[in-house]
Amino acid sequence: MRTTGYYHDLEIKSREELKSDKWTRLQNIIQLAAEKCREFKNRLHKAGISPRDITSEKDFLAIPPLPKKNLITLQEEDINQLLTTDLGNLAHIYMSPGPILDPEGTDDDYWGWAEAFYAAGFRPKDIVQMTFSYHMTPAGLMLEQPLRKLGCAVIPTGPGNTEAQITLLTRLKATGFVGMASYLKTIAKKAKAAGLDLKKDFNLQVAFVAAEILTPSLRNEVEEMFGMVVRQGYGTADVGCIAYECPEAQGMHLSTRCWVEICHPGTGEPVVPGEIGEVVVTPFSTTYPLIRFATGDLAAIDYSPCPCGRSAPRIKGIFGRTDSTAKVKGQFVYQHQVSQVMAEFPVIINWQLTLTNPQGKDTLTLYVQARDGLDEKKLIAAFKEKIKLLPVLKVLSAHEELEEPGKIVDKRVWE
Ligand SMILES: [Zn+2]
Repeated sequence: MRTTGYYHDLEIKSREELKSDKWTRLQNIIQLAAEKCREFKNRLHKAGISPRDITSEKDFLAIPPLPKKNLITLQEEDINQLLTTDLGNLAHIYMSPGPILDPEGTDDDYWGWAEAFYAAGFRPKDIVQMTFSYHMTPAGLMLEQPLRKLGCAVIPTGPGNTEAQITLLTRLKATGFVGMASYLKTIAKKAKAAGLDLKKDFNLQVAFVAAEILTPSLRNEVEEMFGMVVRQGYGTADVGCIAYECPEAQGMHLSTRCWVEICHPGTGEPVVPGEIGEVVVTPFSTTYPLIRFATGDLAAIDYSPCPCGRSAPRIKGIFGRTDSTAKVKGQFVYQHQVSQVMAEFPVIINWQLTLTNPQGKDTLTLYVQARDGLDEKKLIAAFKEKIKLLPVLKVLSAHEELEEPGKIVDKRVWE
């Protein structure tokens, strides 16, 4: 059955047991990194921490996080300072946009997606079409590893060439698909136009999708068209799998293969459980152990139990990037929160939140373009309620343009 069973026992251990198992692995990784990775050694040294001192979660939280954007410079300086082994000992070295190099160790399923693929419903003997790219960036090969580990056969098509994709999917009666959900929709459209029946001519049963926002409507549409299950995961090209959906598809369970924290952006201080913050992750990689890697992604965690039986808490959703966040008067202002407030007022056509600091005083100016009938008082009240800060509202006429509509623009000057 595609909806039952677990990839390994750890997934259904109690939350305490799971945490204690992870904590042991985390400590081993910290000691290894402190011994072998120059970058981590330096980071500890600068913070005045000796690796021997890291014995509790509180000690761990004192380690300054490693922001994703710092990887670019650190890798340019010398990528070896981030590794426990020589470059020549790796299995692959990819390059993602940034540019950021993604070193891969030799362990099978190095990126740890097998647990996620099993939870999605992939099973041994599945025939799976892999439509992510196989070169330069890690997506194709990274997501092929878990399929091979689970005992699936892979059709490595990579992206594009949709007609050939359709021929292979139908001729080989492929049961699985990995790629973008929107691409699956493109395949469906072309196949229908060619007179094919998406349920009779295809045998697709399960898909793992990534690399774009999966809206409920896109998921439902594709699931219904092919009569299949579509599940997604969350990870990065630096650390691999972080979280994944189960059959319930109500958020993404944190993977057993890494230590995940949700922190106030840029600080490494944990948020109150359940609140939105930056995803900070430490993968249990013995090759490229990025300790407290600050992904720049914003998420919140749901601690309620999941009917699937997996004990790991779930990421409720990815709410954007920290670079769309600003700290004002000790308060974080998130772009998506501003969007949510604006969405309550259908007459608003466009908005922009500009931050300035005349005479060192933080000021928020909310510019809006609106059709007739905007209740300004109500808008300010709604903003204050959600964001906890009071903006100066400026309603623009239709011919005045916004520099960056729908964004937070930080124009504060620091001296
Ligand atoms: Zn679940």
